[in-house]
Amino acid sequence: MTSQSPEALPISVRHITKTYGRVHALDDVSLEVKSGEFLTLLGPSGSGKTTLLMVLAGFTRPDRGSLMFGDREVIRLAPHLRNVGMTFQNYALFPHMTVAGNVAYPLKLRGVPRAEIGARVEKALETVRLGGYGNRRIDQLSGGQKQRVALARSIVFEPRILLMDEPLSALDKKLRDHMQIELRHLHEQLGMTTVYVTHDQREALTMSDRIAVVNHGRIMQLATPRELYERPANRFVADFIGDSTFLAVTRTATGVSFAGAPLSISNPIPDAADLLLMVRPERITLARDDNSDGGNRLPAVVREMVYQGDSYLLQSELTDGTLLTMRGAVRGANLSAMPAVGDKVTLNLAPEDAVVIDGRAD
Ligand code: ADP
Ligand code: MG
Repeated sequence: MTSQSPEALPISVRHITKTYGRVHALDDVSLEVKSGEFLTLLGPSGSGKTTLLMVLAGFTRPDRGSLMFGDREVIRLAPHLRNVGMTFQNYALFPHMTVAGNVAYPLKLRGVPRAEIGARVEKALETVRLGGYGNRRIDQLSGGQKQRVALARSIVFEPRILLMDEPLSALDKKLRDHMQIELRHLHEQLGMTTVYVTHDQREALTMSDRIAVVNHGRIMQLATPRELYERPANRFVADFIGDSTFLAVTRTATGVSFAGAPLSISNPIPDAADLLLMVRPERITLARDDNSDGGNRLPAVVREMVYQGDSYLLQSELTDGTLLTMRGAVRGANLSAMPAVGDKVTLNLAPEDAVVIDGRAD
């Protein structure tokens, strides 16, 4: 869901390149962020996420490329003239100032009249549910509260674009899960065009309208969470998002085959040199004896069975030696009748769950 506020601006990144010596931190990056959209840059450490955010904020000047906010070229514009709010991984709060002092800082920097500042600070604190906390000292706050102060500071001057660099990475898991939903609600409420950075694929799936998967300073795929998970463009994306087993398949006149047997696949097969069948663990089932499930049949030998509370993992070896992981729900499964290690089984993969991808891994 993308909420639109009249002040939100689209962002257009065009052919941005940034090198540090021989490192291509950004390698000809182009992307469009829609007005009011929540877009996440997702990628491993060192992939160029922070560099791209710093280019958007104006703290890093790229070697070449163009950057448009709406219909305005901003690549040469100083950071404080871009009307962009930013939060950093380590909060970057002033520890010796009060909460209100921190949040007021961007307003003072922009010459907002004193009389207005108090009310705007309090409004921003209320937005992040810290109303009444203005007089507290930063070192009296918990990690989650500090993150909220940083957020209040980044939105207090009502920027049209909000940039967030791994804002939740210092929080423990419970608080992180909670803040993900809160940030999402805040975005819906404020409607700012938001570019969010994380290396956590689940966080990206939870929060984003769309996700740009970044690797080696390049965008590997830009799509909705569902498209990325279900139709990854290549092996890198498939590997980075969710769990999967990859089976080497061969192109035939009519489709693809695995270990000599043709596969029935209802998804388009990419035009790539190396093809892999991507198998998500929850899309595999134990085949029914009466064939009533009617998908692709994969004979295998069970190597490992792991109980995980809500689900179980069954790892089995296929005829070509690949270990394939299947995840099943414990609820509704007859665990006492499950195959044991060493048993021969037949696995089933429905044609609509059989996704062939480009084998490119970087
Ligand atoms: P990420 O945020 O995805 O972890 P960064 O954008 O911080 O990645 O870094 C991308 C690449 O650029 C890395 O190889 C990093 O070492 C390099 N890099 C980033 N900033 C600098 C800098 N100021 N000087 C030299 N190399 C840098
Ligand atoms: Mg970074």
